[in-house]
Amino acid sequence: MEISMKNVPDYFGKFVFDDITMRARLPKETYKAMIRTIKDGRSLDISIANVVANAMKDWAIELGATHYTHWFQPMTGITAEKHDSFISPDDSGRVIMEFSGKELVQGEPDASSFPSGGLRATFEARGYTAWDPTSYAFVKDGVLCIPTAFCSFAGDALDKKTPLLRSMEALNRQAMRIIKLFGHTDVTSVKTTVGPEQEYFLIEKALYDKRPDLVFAGRTLFGARPPKGQELDDHYFGTIKPRVAAFMKELDEELWKLGVYAKTEHNEAAPAQHELAPYFTTANIAADHNQLTMELMQKIARKHDMVCILHEKPFAGVTGSGKHNNWSMTTNTGVNLLNPGETPYENAQFLLFLCAVIKAVDDYQDLLRVSAATAGNDHRLGAAEAPPAVISIFLGDELTAILHALEKETVYNAKEKSLMRVGVHVLPKFPKDTTDRNRTSPFAFTGNKFEFRMLGASASVSDCNTSLNTAVAEVLSQFADELEKAENFEHALHDLIVRTVRNHKRIIFNGNGYDEKWIEEAERRGLYNLKTTPDAIPMLLNQKNIDLFCKHKVLSEREIRARYEILLESYVKIVNIEALSMVDMVKKDILPAVCCYGDKLAKAFRHKKEAIPSLKCDYERNVLQELSECTDHIYHTLRCLEKAIAGVNKNDDSLSLAKAYETQVIPQMQALRAYVDLAETMTAYKDWPYPTYGDLLFGIKN
Ligand code: ADP
Ligand code: MG
Repeated sequence: MEISMKNVPDYFGKFVFDDITMRARLPKETYKAMIRTIKDGRSLDISIANVVANAMKDWAIELGATHYTHWFQPMTGITAEKHDSFISPDDSGRVIMEFSGKELVQGEPDASSFPSGGLRATFEARGYTAWDPTSYAFVKDGVLCIPTAFCSFAGDALDKKTPLLRSMEALNRQAMRIIKLFGHTDVTSVKTTVGPEQEYFLIEKALYDKRPDLVFAGRTLFGARPPKGQELDDHYFGTIKPRVAAFMKELDEELWKLGVYAKTEHNEAAPAQHELAPYFTTANIAADHNQLTMELMQKIARKHDMVCILHEKPFAGVTGSGKHNNWSMTTNTGVNLLNPGETPYENAQFLLFLCAVIKAVDDYQDLLRVSAATAGNDHRLGAAEAPPAVISIFLGDELTAILHALEKETVYNAKEKSLMRVGVHVLPKFPKDTTDRNRTSPFAFTGNKFEFRMLGASASVSDCNTSLNTAVAEVLSQFADELEKAENFEHALHDLIVRTVRNHKRIIFNGNGYDEKWIEEAERRGLYNLKTTPDAIPMLLNQKNIDLFCKHKVLSEREIRARYEILLESYVKIVNIEALSMVDMVKKDILPAVCCYGDKLAKAFRHKKEAIPSLKCDYERNVLQELSECTDHIYHTLRCLEKAIAGVNKNDDSLSLAKAYETQVIPQMQALRAYVDLAETMTAYKDWPYPTYGDLLFGIKN
């Protein structure tokens, strides 16, 4: 089907089996049943699934689809799909196009190649995928994609979507108890909303292909600083180069076809760095959409002879890429629960939900930190470019002062005579995000939502939202337990809010998160400072965290333990690949290149001396001397790195193994890199085997 790309509303969501399409294509009763399933999570009868499947297939075929796939998000963090065609032989030896309700509802991919953290016994390789009717099916590259959850045959979640959906249910259950207490009879559900801002780099493909580190590890493992970096701030929000603009245009169009609300595209802080921000939507759809966004970014960049890099720290000394997870809670009647209201009553409700988030973040700091812990992100957090590894909340001065007045039972401002009481007084107006853009805070209130800023660019947003939803659900359940029993609701509410502020204000910090003094202060306040992934992951097994996930039926203890294994395993694998890539690059390219350049210097020295014996030839001699010394250092550190890699005991438990990589292998990698980067500064450009940082970062000329 030819689609005109002139008018966005004409093609927005054209490739999505969304509400409008369903209404147009499904019999009325079927449509109603689907909507009930989507809205209230009711299960769908197979006879209805058959009708939906058939309508979906006809619609997909009109859009050129020949295959379908159960699209899911295994623990690798990227999406997986296995294509099956619609064809089915008929009696005459020809084919008909078929797609049944059973095929729509459940699939059985071989699960053996996806990480399972020990949940899948080797004899039981099967897993199954189950349709998630709350996120719309779509057509991508001629394939009907059905968003699904992915479980082992024993029913354990092997993916990132299942716990996210469960956590949304948990939050809905508990938030509804609170909503009832406020007497909103019209509200039937509460959903979490998410808008993830996605940063990325675009690199010339021809240059990328010449860097084995980018190809194997997704980041540069070597590279001396270029003379110009981001110090002039001339890239941020700067004019977008035509090639990049063409890429962004195509990306927007493809995302719009898939119903993704891509909204803003701009340049970011570092050269060659950009950002895409979508308009927010329901958390699980936002998670799907973010996966699609990352996938399309990479695919479309290639069409434009560029490579999109989603690694959180592709270049040392240059700002890395993050993903800001904007988060809030909204009722089905469209009320954002983190929006301060106009009346005392609305404000009381706002303050209660605000306090629930504050307490949740304080009680479960460690879980939020875990959700951002990867080998790649270890290079960003705490490096004064991304938030520190310490979790704290930014509320802005005004809101903090209001909470302070409530807590201390003092007047908030001189004009107000009476002490402020929750549920009695209207909150004084406070501007949105007063200390505008406090970029150093990991968890910032920005007027009507919170923004979690720790995630690395390549992360799935599922994990952090699963933890956040569940932690907030738990606090809301504690609040509801207390308030449901209260004799005087207003008094109880006031006391609860005051007590929560008093007990959890240590997590609130409005200052500069990059300041060394803050880290000391945070320690005094008793906040966690989990610097690295091997420090963070064990927190997953804290009894309070196991209790949390089990109580709200988000993850079973088995599932938590499996996730713990997978996270550590993936850390080890990444560091191991990086270390091996370094060894390979040094042995095969870098040492031969510096030797070759040294040889040229030696020859030049000899020839000159032969021609005119009185010449000093300081340049040739000194550089040769320094380069030779540096080369020896490279050689010896290389040997140390090889020894370190061989020295880790692969049979150790996963935590010991991860610790061994962190404490024995990574320091050797850093030492090796330092010598190689030094050698690069002494070697002729022509003789260096790889494109430089300057080439990579400033390679896209127009
Ligand atoms: P900025 O952070 O640059 O000021 P905005 O505040 O407009 O930009 O939004 C940043 C991101 O937050 C966008 O993706 C936006 O859709 C999202 N966002 C806005 N409101 C909400 C909300 N209630 N829930 C979740 N995300 C939201
Ligand atoms: Mg923002």
